[in-house]
Amino acid sequence: MQILYKSTRGNGDKITASQAILKGLSDDGGLFVPDNIPKLDIDLETLSKMTYQEIAYEVMSRFFTDFTEEELKECINKAYDSKFDTKEIVPLVKKGNAFIMELFHGPTIAFKDMALSILPYLLTTAAKKNHVKNEIVILTATSGDTGKAAMAGFADVPGTKIIVFYPKNGVSPVQEKQMVTQKGDNTYVVGITGNFDDAQTGVKRMFNDKELAQELAQAGYQFSSANSINIGRLVPQVAYYVYAYVKLMERGEIRKGDEINAVVPTGNFGNILAAYYAKQMGVPYGKFICASNENKVLFDFFRTGCYDRNREFILTSSPSMDILISSNLERLIYRVAGDDSEKNKELMKDLTEKGSYQITPEMEEGLKEFYGNYATEEETADTIREFFEKNQYVLDTHTAVAVDVYRKYMDEKKDSRPAVIASTASPYKFTRSVMTAIDKKYEDMEDFALADELERISGVKIPKAIEEIRTAPVRHNTVAEAADMPKVVKEILQIS
Ligand SMILES: *Cc1c(COP(=O)(O)O)cnc(C)c1O
Repeated sequence: MQILYKSTRGNGDKITASQAILKGLSDDGGLFVPDNIPKLDIDLETLSKMTYQEIAYEVMSRFFTDFTEEELKECINKAYDSKFDTKEIVPLVKKGNAFIMELFHGPTIAFKDMALSILPYLLTTAAKKNHVKNEIVILTATSGDTGKAAMAGFADVPGTKIIVFYPKNGVSPVQEKQMVTQKGDNTYVVGITGNFDDAQTGVKRMFNDKELAQELAQAGYQFSSANSINIGRLVPQVAYYVYAYVKLMERGEIRKGDEINAVVPTGNFGNILAAYYAKQMGVPYGKFICASNENKVLFDFFRTGCYDRNREFILTSSPSMDILISSNLERLIYRVAGDDSEKNKELMKDLTEKGSYQITPEMEEGLKEFYGNYATEEETADTIREFFEKNQYVLDTHTAVAVDVYRKYMDEKKDSRPAVIASTASPYKFTRSVMTAIDKKYEDMEDFALADELERISGVKIPKAIEEIRTAPVRHNTVAEAADMPKVVKEILQIS
C-alpha cells in the first residue's frame, strides 16, 4: 500500500515520502505526517530472528513506499555498519525489570546517530529520484547532539552543504568541542547568542522565507532539514522500538503480545513519538513515559492539557532536553485532533502569538497512553550516583532523568510491566556533570582527565568519538545573533 504524506497545517494535498524528506518542513509551516500509519504486517516471531538492519528495512519500507527495496537496503547498510561500535547496533541491558536501550553506540555517541547516520543517504536518494539539480543545504538547529551527528552524516557528501546553529552558552564542553572540530569542506558551525528555541525558530523562519528560497534557487541551492521535523529522521527511529520488543521476546524476557512500557527522556518529542508510531504499527507497547528535566513544559501539558512556553528557560545538566517548544508534539496534536489540520493550525497559531494553547477534553482523551513527569537537577545527580553505586553502571544525565521519572511512575502507578528505557547518550558526552554527581572530588579535574577517570570507574572503554577530539584543532569559530542567521547563511553560500 502506498503511503503519502500531508502537512499538519495543510489543505490535504499529498506528496510522496521522498518529496517529504527532501522538503523537511511544509511550506505552510506544518510537519509532514503519513496519511495513515502502516501496519507491521509481518509476524513478531519472524522479526525476532532478524538483525537490526533487517528490522529497520521492514519498518522503513512500510513508510517510505516510493523507495525501491534496493535503494532502501543500500541506505540502511551504509548507515548501520562499523560506524557503530557494536554489532547489535542497539544493546539492551537489563537492570531490574527495566531494560536500558543503549542508543549511543554510533559515531557521535548520542542517539541522534540512529537517524542521522541514515538521513544523508535517504536525502541524496530522494534528490536523485526527484531529479533535483540544486545543491541541498541542510539547515540545522541543535541543542547539542543533532548538530554533530548531522555533520558526521553529511560531511563531504557530494551535492550537500550543512550549516549548524547551536546556542553558544547552552551545550556541554564535549558537545561544543565535537562540533567546532568537525571536518569536511561542506560543514559550517555557527554559535548563536541565544538559546536552542531561538536557533530553532530562526531555522524554521528561514524555511518559510519565500524570498530567501528564491535567492537560493537562483544560486542553485535549496534548503532541507536534518532536525526531527524531517520525517526522514522520525521513521528510522521507529525501528529500534520494534527491535527492542522482538529481541526481548527472543531472549525470553517477554512473551509475544505482552505489553511493555517505553520511558523516553524527551526534548523535541521525536524519540517518544517514534515509540508511539511503533505501537500504532501494531507492536504491543503500553504506556509512553515522557521524562523531562526542569524545563517541564510537557509534564505540565500532560497534566493540564495546556501547553505553555511562557516561562523561564533553564540551562540544565541535560542540555539536549533544554527545550520549551517541542516541535514533534505537533504531530501528536494533529493526530489527537482527529487529523484535523484546521484545529491544529489554530492551536499552533496560539502558540506563536500567545506562547500557549489549550487542547479540548476530547483531545486529552487521546493522550491517555502518555504519562509525563520530570526530574530536578538534584534528583538527576542523585539518580546517577545511586544507580552507579547499585549497578556499577554509569548513566548519562539525560538517561538519568528518564530513570528518575520511571521510578516516580512506578511509585505512583505500581505498573509491573517491563519497560524499555531509552538511553540517549553515552556518559562520556557529559563527563563533568556525570562525574561530579558520583563524587564531588572530581569538581576540579579537567575534562579529559575526567574521561580517563570515568573509564577507570566504569570499565567502559573511552569511545573513539572522545579520543578524536582530545587533540583535534578548532575549525569553526563563527558567532552570531539569532536575528542575523539569514545573513550568515547568505555569507556562507556567497549569495549577496
Ligand atoms: C535529542 C536528545 C534528546 C531528546 O530527544 P527528542 O527526540 O528531541 O525528544 C534526549 N537526550 C539526548 C542525549 C538527545 O541528544
